[in-house]
Amino acid sequence: MDLEKTLLRKVGEAISRYDMIRDGDRVAVGLSGGKDSVTLLEALLLLQKRAPIDFSVCAFTIEQGKFLKPIAPFKEYLAGRGVEWTYYHDNASFDLLEEEPDHGCDKCSRYRRRAVYEVVRGMGAKVIAFGHTADDFCESFLRNALFNGRLSALPPITYSSQKDFRIIRPLVFVTEDITTAYAGHLTAPVIPCGCSQKTGTVRRSLRDYFTEMEKDYPQLKQSMLSAMGNVELHRLLDPRYQDPEKSPFKKEKDVLFPVLG
Ligand code: SF4
Repeated sequence: MDLEKTLLRKVGEAISRYDMIRDGDRVAVGLSGGKDSVTLLEALLLLQKRAPIDFSVCAFTIEQGKFLKPIAPFKEYLAGRGVEWTYYHDNASFDLLEEEPDHGCDKCSRYRRRAVYEVVRGMGAKVIAFGHTADDFCESFLRNALFNGRLSALPPITYSSQKDFRIIRPLVFVTEDITTAYAGHLTAPVIPCGCSQKTGTVRRSLRDYFTEMEKDYPQLKQSMLSAMGNVELHRLLDPRYQDPEKSPFKKEKDVLFPVLG
């Protein structure tokens, strides 16, 4: 189907551009219960059959007490797909939830990260794949620029602080209209997380902003993704990139008079 072709083309492009998966890798996919991570899992299983390299795929889910429905149906689905899955009930996160019900995302993510490394190490994998989509990259880019005073989004590929895990986000070029449509064709259960229902958050506002703007400018996210891959450092304000002697950008006149020069 065309949708599948589009999905695989975009995931394949990300994997190859950033050298995300290498021969012999064991890739552990973080299944969050939503449409994005299950789409990522299916895309990797399909690419595994076609890729010129050998790699294996397994999956894990960290239970932090925020799923709105039991996650158990995943077990049957993944067994049917022949995917090894570890479901980890993170006691520390449950304690946190009880002691500090309003703890923020930072703390929650820190607890999750610790659990993820423990689980993935136990599964014998060194590569962790997360289902962050193009929408997440665009939102993160805007959030950092508008609220945190930084020009940055998410890394498509990075390493854990001890360098023992490579962390990849192969859906960087895949927008959520694709994951929604693709997951809709699967028999996979979708288990919502309580946090995804929250209103009045910056995330929700940015999502609403994109939805509104995309009515008139449907290529908006595409353009933002291109922008993130096409940085003109000398036209920003960071002094580290303004010294013409050290600048990788041509002559000074190109910098000062880019339009007229
Ligand atoms: S949105 Fe919810 S689950 Fe996600 S990091 Fe924040 S508190 Fe945790």
